Amino acid sequence: MPLKGGAFVTDETNYNDVFLPEDWTEEQLMIRDMVKDFCLQEIHGLGIEKAAALDASKDLDLIVSMLEKSAELGLCGLSIDKEYGGMDLDFNTGLLFGEAISLGFSFATTIGAQTSIGSLPIVFYGTPEQKQKYLPGIASAKLKASYCLTEPGAGSDANSGKTKATLSTDGKTYLLNGQKMWITNGGFADIFIVFAKIEDDKDLSAFIVEKAFGGITLGKEEKKLGIKGSSTVQVFFNNCPVPAENLLSKRGEGFKIALNILNTGRVKLSAGAIGYSRRNGLCGGNRY
Ligand SMILES: Cc1cc2nc3c(=O)[nH]c(=O)nc-3n(C[C@H](O)[C@H](O)[C@H](O)COP(=O)(O)OP(=O)(O)OC[C@H]3O[C@@H](n4cnc5c(N)ncnc54)[C@H](O)[C@@H]3O)c2cc1C
Repeated sequence: MPLKGGAFVTDETNYNDVFLPEDWTEEQLMIRDMVKDFCLQEIHGLGIEKAAALDASKDLDLIVSMLEKSAELGLCGLSIDKEYGGMDLDFNTGLLFGEAISLGFSFATTIGAQTSIGSLPIVFYGTPEQKQKYLPGIASAKLKASYCLTEPGAGSDANSGKTKATLSTDGKTYLLNGQKMWITNGGFADIFIVFAKIEDDKDLSAFIVEKAFGGITLGKEEKKLGIKGSSTVQVFFNNCPVPAENLLSKRGEGFKIALNILNTGRVKLSAGAIGYSRRNGLCGGNRY
């Protein structure tokens, strides 16, 4: 029975329900060490000049090549089923991954978008055909993934977004029109999970959109205060044609999908923050 709200503080806890670091298996710890080695070799090993250049100029080719190298180790398919080329690891291992990948600075954001918000909508809500079409490419990083929810007038209140999908009279294609902003990986993504309202719906729907569909333009890379070595852009949809079979789940289910995906991301982000703090001695003890 899941606990509600702050019940973990007020209610009695059964110690069997508590996961402790001592419970990690050999395999999970090996994955953590692999992630750590990857970060040390591929990111810390860049040398100060290249790392600084990555931060300053946002070398998209370098970011993409790191993503592809990480996929060779299986890291882009952590939560993807084995039949689609992934490792099908459990949520706890995802948290350990989040803790370890924080050693990769901005790259943690890039791979986070690929393995979490950019792909989990398909993992959790895709049809077998959608999974077969997109997940192997995402697991191997041949396809780079992003998640397009936020709009200039719709941030925290995401369901108020104005991006619109209009179904063609033959029912085969949606035409997408609208603007998204702060899109991580947007500068090089092949796949955009886009949240839009069909016609005059009250709630969002979700679509798998390929850059190759056309009608997509990108804004300039944002100049950010931190995580500068990650791509963040605006994405504009101008009569972007999306095949009807690329609707994720059912019409009007997009807001639920959006929040469920963000909820898992929030927990993983906390694991990343803890990893970063531990390494920098902010949580008493340096575990790496
Ligand atoms: C680096 C970066 C990467 C991002 N990547 C993505 C991405 O890949 N895909 C994507 O879709 N989005 C992305 N985002 C967008 C992010 O999800 C939004 O910034 C976030 O949802 C907040 O929206 P906002 O910036 O419009 O702030 P607002 O919603 O305008 O909020 C501004 C402030 O007001 C507060 N506030 C808002 N509403 C209320 C309320 N009702 N009561 C009290 N306080 C309130 C908020 O807590 C916040 O402090 C990214 C953002 C950043 C900075």
